[in-house]
Amino acid sequence: MSDPRGPVDGRVVPRFAGPPTFARLPRRDEVSECDVAIVGVPFDSGVTYRPGARFGPAAIRHGSRLLRPYHQDMKVEPFALQQVADAGDVACNPFVIGEALTQIDDAASVLLRHNSHLIALGGDHTIALPLLRATHRRFGPVAVLHFDAHLDTWEGHFGVSYNHGTPFRRASEEGLLRLDRCIHVGIRGPIFGRQDLADDAVLGFQVLSTMEIEERGLGWAIERLQRRIGDAAAYVSVDIDVLDPAHAPGTGTPEPGGLTMRELQAMLRSLIHVNVVGADIVEVAPAYDHAELTSMAAANVAYELLGVFAISARGPNKAPSATRTTKAAASMLGKRRNAVS
Ligand code: MN
Ligand code: MN
Repeated sequence: MSDPRGPVDGRVVPRFAGPPTFARLPRRDEVSECDVAIVGVPFDSGVTYRPGARFGPAAIRHGSRLLRPYHQDMKVEPFALQQVADAGDVACNPFVIGEALTQIDDAASVLLRHNSHLIALGGDHTIALPLLRATHRRFGPVAVLHFDAHLDTWEGHFGVSYNHGTPFRRASEEGLLRLDRCIHVGIRGPIFGRQDLADDAVLGFQVLSTMEIEERGLGWAIERLQRRIGDAAAYVSVDIDVLDPAHAPGTGTPEPGGLTMRELQAMLRSLIHVNVVGADIVEVAPAYDHAELTSMAAANVAYELLGVFAISARGPNKAPSATRTTKAAASMLGKRRNAVS
């Protein structure tokens, strides 16, 4: 494979100009091979409260323009060690949920055949179910590391079984999950009753609540989630409402008392010790956002995950390859400088 083609250089083309792809990366059809495809899923017909996450993918791409090539805390260049590209949006039916689920599953299955990893940008949390179906087809039953204020293992709402409050119940019922390896992180707020938690445990999930993280510390929380996932193939689903509304106001069902972005970043960075096979970032609803706080947070979640994939591609114990990264950086500078006027 040739050197990865990276983002448009922000020192050559200003960050407020240039292509509207994620992190100003090439489109998937501009590169012959791709390690990580970023795909938008602008679907929000499964929400129970505020609508608007259909505009999430565009907002996250907009919020990603400030991402730079070097992750200084992880000491890795996510765009130089692997080819990352923007695969555009899945066209899904906004009126018929069942049809949309099939469309998302089909699109994700095709992408997973031609790319090592997929990061989906939602959209509401309904999209996790078809993404898990496609992931299961490729990797078998997976551990789910689910960051969210909410359990999302409810039976249904108003007689509708497929919506943004049910994806992990359906996934568990369909046999897509490793029932001994799933965990929710960041749970908080009022629920319907204590039976919800009992049902959730039967479906295969442990709960790491926001208050437990506060009381017992981040190191303890990271150790606990790593122990739960073990060496299983893991799917990471990040509902942006896991963050406190102060950090992510632009979402459909905000819950006070959430995680800070720093806490989420630390937990995501710890995933270099986990076999992450796929991810989604959902529930960004820009109409309720302020100053792009939520869309920039979501873009940075994707950047953390790209850092994790890059370190896995490099091999966890290998030092960064200066030759390759410098060469790749030089090459992307040359290519992208010509590519954009
Ligand atoms: Mn939620
Ligand atoms: Mn959710």
